[in-house]
Amino acid sequence: MAQPKVLIIGAGITGPATSLLLRSLGLQVSIYELRPSPSPLGGAISLAPNALRILDKLGVYERLKTLGCSVAITQVLSAGTGKALGSLSFGDKSLHGYESLRIPRRELQNVLLERARELGVEVVFGKKLVEVVEQENGVIAKFEDGGEEGVRGDLLLGCDGIHSVVRSRLVQSDRLLVYTGVAVSYGVVKKTALTAPIPFDTTGFFNGRCGSIIASYCDAAMTEVYWAAVMEVQNQESKDGWKAVGEDRDAVKRDVLKRFEGSAVGCIKELIEESEDVYLYPVWKLGHGGNWHSKRCVLLGDAAHAMPPHGGSQGFSLALEDAVILARLFEKEGLDDLERVFVRFEEVRKPRVDKIYIQANKNWEGIKDIGWFANMVKEFFMWIYLIFFAKSVEESYMYDPHKVEI
Ligand SMILES: Cc1cc2nc3c(=O)[nH]c(=O)nc-3n(C[C@H](O)[C@H](O)[C@H](O)COP(=O)(O)OP(=O)(O)OC[C@H]3O[C@@H](n4cnc5c(N)ncnc54)[C@H](O)[C@@H]3O)c2cc1C
Repeated sequence: MAQPKVLIIGAGITGPATSLLLRSLGLQVSIYELRPSPSPLGGAISLAPNALRILDKLGVYERLKTLGCSVAITQVLSAGTGKALGSLSFGDKSLHGYESLRIPRRELQNVLLERARELGVEVVFGKKLVEVVEQENGVIAKFEDGGEEGVRGDLLLGCDGIHSVVRSRLVQSDRLLVYTGVAVSYGVVKKTALTAPIPFDTTGFFNGRCGSIIASYCDAAMTEVYWAAVMEVQNQESKDGWKAVGEDRDAVKRDVLKRFEGSAVGCIKELIEESEDVYLYPVWKLGHGGNWHSKRCVLLGDAAHAMPPHGGSQGFSLALEDAVILARLFEKEGLDDLERVFVRFEEVRKPRVDKIYIQANKNWEGIKDIGWFANMVKEFFMWIYLIFFAKSVEESYMYDPHKVEI
């Protein structure tokens, strides 16, 4: 009998990671990605211990380790005074088996795609999904360039990110997408371009009045520093409005520099000034809950539950957990009754996702421009906040989708 065929939409990071698990079940897998090739953009991502545990089982951790910087703690400092305010564990090896790993997104994506191809996954770039048609015994994906016929599979996974077409065209067209009021600006700098002292071992978080900056080495040799500023920024009228703001790189640089003007931490100014390219993008989130499946299609990763960054690097962890639970359910239940599998998938995943979603929103809502007095109070009590937040982060690192009852 022919192997069931799975169509995956999106070769970001959820799609390729999920394909590895499905290949291990003997399924035929094809990934379709709208971009013409893997994206070189996106800065650097932090992979938490619970993500690395899964990536290790998928056979890619050893390779990733050679491409990223291992991070045990994030030092928290005041951007204004340079004073240490506390620290946050990013993974205790003796407790979780791993520290965190800060790695350029393009490297992560390339390693996952390379492994997927080794295992026989078909990866097709330059294919923009425009429509999904479900039938009694299969599903058809139609692409912008592809004529009426489209590509046929037994089931389809929407790994196409926050602006998912699988979601908007088929699974739930009215799911709310909300601008969080915060935008992120980021860049990467060679360490040799910096003359001011770097006041952190691997990663520093600098709290400011009009935004905060995280800065981290992002390669194993610690020669490159990635930084990302999170800032309250007014919504633009349209996608084109954001595009225009982001494309004026010099203006973006000037705005970020102004927010950290007068900082006692010399390397902040240098990080921004010495970055050749500075990017800006708004952070959107999906409304809480929602529906994640139809008869033959299911959403994974950001397509199902995009949220603001959690602070404990849980975005990609959640996507990997989705993939593990779905693969375990396929193994247990087979593929004859897909809807039953998808219903159970949502039941297992939603409580975990909700918990992280609520915490992520709470943290993100705290990103507001504030006055010097409010900031002084915030920095005075930062150590207490860090104690509570550390507890919730530790808990999220402990979650193991291989051990959860399905
Ligand atoms: C500012 C910020 C910082 C973050 N930092 C971290 C972090 O440090 N650690 C962490 O774990 N998580 C982090 N996250 C969350 C993490 O980035 C996401 O959870 C993760 O990228 C989700 O991956 P994905 O593959 O589901 O979606 P995406 O990465 O968005 O990939 C979706 C893919 O689908 C493709 N696609 C879209 N539409 C179509 C279509 N119609 N046809 C074909 N292909 C299509 C896209 O081109 C893209 O390649 C952060 C998020 C933000 C906003």
